[in-house]
Amino acid sequence: MKVAKFGEFGLIERIRGAVSAEPALRLGIGDDCAAVEIPPGELLLTTTDLLIEDVHFRRQWTDWRRLGRKSASVNISDIAAMGGIPRFLYLGLALPAESELADFDAFIAGFLQAAGEYGAVLAGGDTCRSPGPLLISVTAQGSVPADEVVTRGGARPGDLIFVSGTLGDSALALRRLQAGETPHPYLAGRHHDPTARVGLGRALAAACLPSAMIDLSDGLLADLGHLLTASGFGAEVWERALPLSAPFQAIMQNEPDVATLALGGGEDYELLFTAPASKAAEVARVAEGAGVAVTGVGRIGTEPGLIVIDRHGRVQRPQRAGFDHFAD
Ligand code: ADP
Ligand code: MG
Repeated sequence: MKVAKFGEFGLIERIRGAVSAEPALRLGIGDDCAAVEIPPGELLLTTTDLLIEDVHFRRQWTDWRRLGRKSASVNISDIAAMGGIPRFLYLGLALPAESELADFDAFIAGFLQAAGEYGAVLAGGDTCRSPGPLLISVTAQGSVPADEVVTRGGARPGDLIFVSGTLGDSALALRRLQAGETPHPYLAGRHHDPTARVGLGRALAAACLPSAMIDLSDGLLADLGHLLTASGFGAEVWERALPLSAPFQAIMQNEPDVATLALGGGEDYELLFTAPASKAAEVARVAEGAGVAVTGVGRIGTEPGLIVIDRHGRVQRPQRAGFDHFAD
């Protein structure tokens, strides 16, 4: 059965039926607006991302359930990057009329499953027909105690630069897909179903450790560049220190050029943050408590610009790195 047969309100009703109750969601799907509550003294965080077919994903490379999961996770990752707790999600869907109802159901199930894993509830959205590609717009709201919000802007010379998890897995999977190959399942999972580092982001913020934080969507160098722009300082990155997964390392043995994906590849959705060097031990302790590996990969300096100390100890000055939708 096609979604078109089911109709806009049939689809909304299907979504509504799949959403569980949440006391802080005073009014959810079904009215003109959602009405939500956040704890007193906390700031409301709001972030939006678009996922457009053939720009952000290919339908033949993923399945609808994982697409649903990823749509929730990548937005929630932005809440994590502020040190926040994800709470409410809004889902805008423009569906090609020939979409299968079973695929729609799988998408919604995946979306709600991932949302639930992070403690977020679907509070509203919009549903319409697309004359072309599948388009997904997700808005995520979270909250953070006002004195614990972490921005991109606070890095200081001498701070160490940390990243969570491993780098380049998603970009390596994408490279394989673009070559018409089947990626290693672990790498494919990192690309199609990334994990937002909510527990880690919150724990770091609650301990007042990060001086600045951002999530890695455009690639390490590009996102570190955003963080440096916000602070006005420069940085050096130690390529040899970059954390790489075992499957990534195994492939790198035969194809050394994939190493650049750890610096420039996007969609890791790991956290990149800075903290005073004197707090490194505390960072390690909090990361262990959150169950996520954290690695020191560089240092903020007074000298503007970004340099990479490569695997051979040579100083590199990377040109433009990372993904820009409007770049040629
Ligand atoms: P309006 O015309 O006021 O925009 P709609 O008929 O579009 O209202 O939506 C009715 C209700 O269903 C609203 O509460 C809206 O937030 C919700 N809704 C519509 N589409 C979605 C969706 N894809 N996901 C979650 N909620 C949705
Ligand atoms: Mg509407």
